Amino acid sequence: MRILLSEERLQAGVDLMAERIRERYGQQPLTIVAIMTGSLVLLADLIRRLDMPVRVSLIQASSYRGGTESGTLWIRDNMMLDITGRDVLVLDDIFDTGKTLAEVTKRIDSMGPRTIATAVLLHKRARQQVELNPDFVAFEIPDEFVVGYGLDYRDLYRNLPFLAVLEESEIGASMV
Ligand code: 5GP
Ligand code: MG
Repeated sequence: MRILLSEERLQAGVDLMAERIRERYGQQPLTIVAIMTGSLVLLADLIRRLDMPVRVSLIQASSYRGGTESGTLWIRDNMMLDITGRDVLVLDDIFDTGKTLAEVTKRIDSMGPRTIATAVLLHKRARQQVELNPDFVAFEIPDEFVVGYGLDYRDLYRNLPFLAVLEESEIGASMV
C-alpha cells in the first residue's frame, strides 16, 4: 500500500473545501446529504468546519459489486430528511465515472430542494462519463484504486486516516 495523501494533506484539503462552502452559503441554513458509506469520514470532518445552521441527511448508494468494478446502481433513501425548499449539498467520497453522483443528484432533485450543489473529496478526472461537474472538489487524483479516509475495498480500510493506493497485487489477495 502506497500513501497518496497524508493525514495532514487531507485535513488541509477539507479546510479549503469548508472555506469555499462557507463563502458560497454564508449563514444560510444548509442540508448536507451524504452518500453512505464512503463519505462518512469526510462528513464528520467537514461539518465541524462549517458555522451556518447545518442539517445532516443520509442516503445510501452502491453498485452491485465487491471489488473495484462498478455495476448497476442501487439507491436507498429511507433515511432522508425532508429537503423541500432547502439548500442541499450532496456529498460523496469520490467522483470516478460520475454516474453515482449524477444518479443520486437526480433522485434528490426530484424531492424538491431550493438549490442543489455537489461536493466530493476526490475527483478522477480522466474517467468522467457524465455531464455533471462537482461544484466543490478537494483533490484531483490519478486513475488508481484508492482506500482510506472512508473509502473501502470490500468494506475494509475505511478507518485509515490517510489515503492510499491499493496495489494490483493487494486487490483480491487478502480476505481478512
Ligand atoms: P462513479 O459512479 O463515479 O463511477 O463511482 C463512484 C463510487 O465508486 C464511489 O462512491 C466509490 O464508492 C466507488 N469508487 C470509485 N473509485 C474508487 C476508488 O478508487 N476507491 C474506492 N474505494 N472506491 C471507488
Ligand atoms: Mg461510495
